[in-house]
Amino acid sequence: MSKETGVSMKTGMSDRYDIIIIGGGIVGLSCAKTLADSGARVVVLDRGRYQESASTGNAGMIVPSHIVPLAAPGVIAKGLKWLLNPESPLYIKPSTDPAFVKWLWAFQKHCTQAHVDHGIPVLRDTILGSKALLDEWCALPGFEGAGLVNTGLLMLHKSEKARKENQELADVAEAAGLEIERLDRAGTLEKEPALKTDITGSVYFRQDARVDPEGLLRAMEAHVRELGVTIVEGAVTKMQKNGRSMVSVQVGDRTLSSDHLVIAAGAWTPGLTKGLGTKLLLQPAKGYSVTIPSADNGGIDTGMHMPCLVTDEKISITPMPGGIRFSGTLGLQGYDMSVDERRFGPIQRHAERYCGKAHVSPQPTWAGLRPASPDGLPFIGRLPQMDNVWVASGHGMLGVTLAPITGQIIADLIGGNKPAFDPAPFRVDRFD
Ligand SMILES: Cc1cc2nc3c(=O)[nH]c(=O)nc-3n(C[C@H](O)[C@H](O)[C@H](O)COP(=O)(O)OP(=O)(O)OC[C@H]3O[C@@H](n4cnc5c(N)ncnc54)[C@H](O)[C@@H]3O)c2cc1C
Repeated sequence: MSKETGVSMKTGMSDRYDIIIIGGGIVGLSCAKTLADSGARVVVLDRGRYQESASTGNAGMIVPSHIVPLAAPGVIAKGLKWLLNPESPLYIKPSTDPAFVKWLWAFQKHCTQAHVDHGIPVLRDTILGSKALLDEWCALPGFEGAGLVNTGLLMLHKSEKARKENQELADVAEAAGLEIERLDRAGTLEKEPALKTDITGSVYFRQDARVDPEGLLRAMEAHVRELGVTIVEGAVTKMQKNGRSMVSVQVGDRTLSSDHLVIAAGAWTPGLTKGLGTKLLLQPAKGYSVTIPSADNGGIDTGMHMPCLVTDEKISITPMPGGIRFSGTLGLQGYDMSVDERRFGPIQRHAERYCGKAHVSPQPTWAGLRPASPDGLPFIGRLPQMDNVWVASGHGMLGVTLAPITGQIIADLIGGNKPAFDPAPFRVDRFD
């Protein structure tokens, strides 16, 4: 049974909209905002964004520092080595599922310098464009809870190997025009005096920032409702098409129709595009986080204010309003959202070494599925077999960072305007 929330509405005529969006995670809500801003009558359908979306428990880092696509030279070798270690940050569950095998094949094909050279300017421009939009949005009334703080980000190193890795990234970032600082131990502690461990230095990415992801999602939801967007809670079970046109969408016992459909269903997007004739190369990539409450919430204060990525152990530490969040791991293991403590345990152990013993009582571990494309770039564009169906998904580790610009590109494409950023690298059919 679908349950409508927000604007009250009768069935019949009012079940027709300009745009239906499937998925109310950060990407779907960003599309809802930009489309409603352009005057469209929008409905968002979601079966439970605060329970299962990747947009709540993630690390909340806004990362211009992440201009190198995940598919890069050396990743496969590193992945194979990690496969032998049950506590490693990467896990690939062997599978003969043809969609998975095709995804892995496409991924390894993109682990080249040529792809990295192609991806860097694309990611740099869209990430910086998205960050500028996020700054604008978070300055609007009602966005205080999003917790955007322009702190910058520290990429920490301890070992010589991690130092080298960070310096290589710093070279790439500098060549791409990002604002960075190479810091020794003293310089790092000046930026974040609460750091506790034997780090040897860091690279500081001045343009990075942090948000409270659930706070941002709630602020976006309230904002789009104010813009007149309708939100319907329920799972989309069926889509009806007529030739190259989507005709209607079934959610619970309601049938909704619209001029355009945007599929922004995160890791679950392929299940929906398949019914419309497109096998999208997208795999769920599981990650974990745990949030330790601050002292006034019954936990412990670490005193940290700066988001940190730890290159040695591949974990992230994000101070947030009301606590501190540790996250990490990437598991290619299908849609299994269970928590494997063997993989998550090390994250918390390592993180505590950097910011002090934060563990007061066991906190629940959150698991989320990143929607991962094989080349590390999102899918933003029209579904090839359809005239009025659009995809906004596949953002992998960058969904919060890239959500605003994704919404902007989708609104421009649907409105027939030339997007400020060339959407060609994000074409849905680029692997065909
Ligand atoms: C551990 C971890 C840390 C991360 N850290 C960061 C970070 O620091 N910075 C960053 O930028 N990104 C980060 N990410 C990535 C980011 O969280 C995702 O890329 C982003 O949340 C994806 O958003 P989305 O809206 O596409 O998908 P989701 O948030 O997953 O939303 C998809 C929605 O679609 C709905 N849905 C699916 N199928 C249906 C259906 N049939 N009917 C109705 N509704 C449906 C679901 O209920 C869900 O709410 C992290 C991810 C993880 C797992």
